[in-house]
Amino acid sequence: MAIQANSVSDAFTQMKALLSSVVPEAELRIKAELVYEILKKKDERGAIILGHNYMEPALFHTVPDLVGDSLGLSQAAAKTDRNPIVFCGVKFMAETAKILSPEKTVLLPAKEAGCSLAAAITAQDVLDLKEMFPGAPVITYVNTYADVKAVTDICCTSSNASQVMRSIDSRQALFLPDEYLSSNVARELGKSIAIAFRGPNGSLEIEGDPAADIIGWRGRCEVHEQFTVDDIANARKQFPDVAVISHPECTPEVVAASDYAGSTTKLVEYVKKSHSKRFLILTECSMGDNIIAENPDKDILRLCSVRCPHMNQITLEDTLHALQADEQLIELPEDIRKAAYRSVERMIQIGPQKD
Ligand code: SF4
Repeated sequence: MAIQANSVSDAFTQMKALLSSVVPEAELRIKAELVYEILKKKDERGAIILGHNYMEPALFHTVPDLVGDSLGLSQAAAKTDRNPIVFCGVKFMAETAKILSPEKTVLLPAKEAGCSLAAAITAQDVLDLKEMFPGAPVITYVNTYADVKAVTDICCTSSNASQVMRSIDSRQALFLPDEYLSSNVARELGKSIAIAFRGPNGSLEIEGDPAADIIGWRGRCEVHEQFTVDDIANARKQFPDVAVISHPECTPEVVAASDYAGSTTKLVEYVKKSHSKRFLILTECSMGDNIIAENPDKDILRLCSVRCPHMNQITLEDTLHALQADEQLIELPEDIRKAAYRSVERMIQIGPQKD
């Protein structure tokens, strides 16, 4: 929830109380001015600011009205009458907000803010895969662009991926584009998996048995693929009481070696509810900082070299600029938006993940 500040010094005082354990005071002093300006402009315009869990702490804990994961934020924004929606996250997330709120202005506070996973697959890749595996339904992770969602049967999140897979009435399915998320789902459900990719000459190739239950795609998150089983072993050696929690975009080996794996929202809930005092959180490092700020009684070990370069592009400066100049405006052709909406809506109809 955004802070309420009636002056720059009021913003600074509140930010210091919230963030002094993770952000240096000099930085807070500079950022308090921006925070105050953003809050004023947001109220003037009747805007809503959404903050993904991977935003840096001085942004995450100050200006967003809502924080969380990308789909939850887009759904919540669609239910309010606030307009414009400023999405402090990467481009595919802002597109999802536009898919669910076509009548509203959606702004992305960065020129690029891409994603290695979303960039790993195109709509043409999906169409070619459909031709290669006729009749196999296509499940697509929400971390994809709208044109890919538009040629998909149903979307999924990291939280409901297994549930969506179970809902499919077909012996074989395409599960795109995250190689590790699909492998983790296959492992959980006891299904076989093969991975499709583009070969050097651009043709489609398959690693594994093309008759496998799940056909995945060689797309990876450049952040989560960096964590290793050795990172976990080293942390456990140094801190035997550590609870290791990971995101399912990590490799199946890392997920298997963790105490718990779940979406960003589930990882946040896990830390809050767990009786453990010490955690190793294998996901984007700003989320570790955000959890530390909210759980001062818990000790979070950080692997802070692992910052997503795309999420890192969203700054307080650009958030203010987005509100002042209506940049970057997210626009989607209506036929693509409608087709993508159907895939997202089918997933929503399945309901939240049952644990
Ligand atoms: S953390 Fe990974 S999946 Fe998320 S935006 Fe960055 S590259 Fe994409």
